Amino acid sequence: ASVKAATHDVYDTAEIQRQDAAHYMHPFTDHKALGERGVRVMVRGDGIYLWDSEGNKILDGMSGLWCVNVGYGRTSISDAVYRQMQTLSFYNSFFNTTNVPATRLAALLVEISPPQFNHVFFTGSGSEANDTNLRMVRRYWDLKGFPNRHTIISRYNAYHGSTVAGAALGGMAGMHEQGGMIPGIEHIGQPNYLENGSGMSADEFGIVAAGWLETKILEVGADKVAAFIGEPVQGAGGVIIPPATYWPEIERICDKYDVLLIADEVICGFGRLGTWFGSELMQIKPDLITFAKGVTSGYVPLGGVLVGDRVADVLIEEGGDFNHGFTYSGHPVACAAALENIRILIDERLVQQVAQDTGPYLKEKFEALMDHPLVGYADTCGFVAGLNLVRKKAEAVHDCEFFEPDHGVGMLCRGYMFANGIIMRAVGDRMIIAPPLVMTRAQIDEMIFKIRYCLEATLIDLQQRGWV
Ligand code: PMP
Repeated sequence: ASVKAATHDVYDTAEIQRQDAAHYMHPFTDHKALGERGVRVMVRGDGIYLWDSEGNKILDGMSGLWCVNVGYGRTSISDAVYRQMQTLSFYNSFFNTTNVPATRLAALLVEISPPQFNHVFFTGSGSEANDTNLRMVRRYWDLKGFPNRHTIISRYNAYHGSTVAGAALGGMAGMHEQGGMIPGIEHIGQPNYLENGSGMSADEFGIVAAGWLETKILEVGADKVAAFIGEPVQGAGGVIIPPATYWPEIERICDKYDVLLIADEVICGFGRLGTWFGSELMQIKPDLITFAKGVTSGYVPLGGVLVGDRVADVLIEEGGDFNHGFTYSGHPVACAAALENIRILIDERLVQQVAQDTGPYLKEKFEALMDHPLVGYADTCGFVAGLNLVRKKAEAVHDCEFFEPDHGVGMLCRGYMFANGIIMRAVGDRMIIAPPLVMTRAQIDEMIFKIRYCLEATLIDLQQRGWV
């Protein structure tokens, strides 16, 4: 009976909530608080919408977790997965073996990625891909005869995953404090113009923020630095869109000191910014690209590393065994899902649509939210966007007055969003979105209408509390 209950389509929300509170340890969650509140149960998705177990229809402004690029309910992906499972549900890529979807996907990824990429290493997730990066760049420098070049420089407030290497590469203090730090990783400030760019133009600030990398390289010693890693646009940190001057200057500094450049494109890859990869938009040529999420639109887990020629040539020509890999590296079912997902992105011209049509439209509509009294700053890049809730607006963004952090105004606003059928995430008091790339102009209008309505509800609430 219990097996039937676990797999049957019919469910009782209260029972799921009871079982969940009793047994399911969720990621990044305060379980005591969740148990008291009761978990929300998602049951269905179609296009940009989700339905919960109470029958509420919710516009998913976050693409699941930045991943459902082609939208929910794509039967051509589920068909491809089903066919692959029936044909060959699994085989490994160790021991001189491959499977058809894995090799085909590697070739397709090389085709759609920038020219310096001719090789792919598959993993099961973005975190595992960054673990792969850490070991691969150290291996590269060992093979080149520089075994001291093992330090990787990252940024505070970066997110690079939740394995030990992922957490350590990331710049989240809360993760470092809970066993997520290892030696050989250093952090510099992030290019957050709003927080750190007072008294400068955005372009001036971009150069200053990139300069922190050079300072850190000199402090560590250039002969000890293996690589710099960064997200083209920081996602989980709050959609921090860097000034246009930032990335080219980072690349110049990496070149100057012979430091490898890793672009973590787990969010920015597969069309999110209106280019196949975010580093193309930022006009840089990384040596390694981390990918996951959008490669399968989240239908099944898959991640990996695009390995640029500079690294691949050394590993392949001189490397012998690279003692690294996962059971699910090149999983045939995941790769079949990715092949179909990428076919959809290409055939429906979704990357071009974001670049030329819906991305600019979102920019116009989303940035217009700055006319609301709570919104001090709003910016977008392709299909990611963020706005800052402020107590008092000012002509110059750096003169805005912010809320007390412990008032949790962002979370309050997020509550109104959920209650009104739209998912927007709060990072402090910055409200962020990353909608599915299939979102139409009409759906953008619907989303902006809902956001505006919830901003108004938040404002009234804050007025009643006397916080504005
Ligand atoms: N890198 C970035 C930039 C991410 O946003 C994420 C996930 N949010 C990861 C790595 C980790 O990916 P995963 O959760 O698949 O391990």
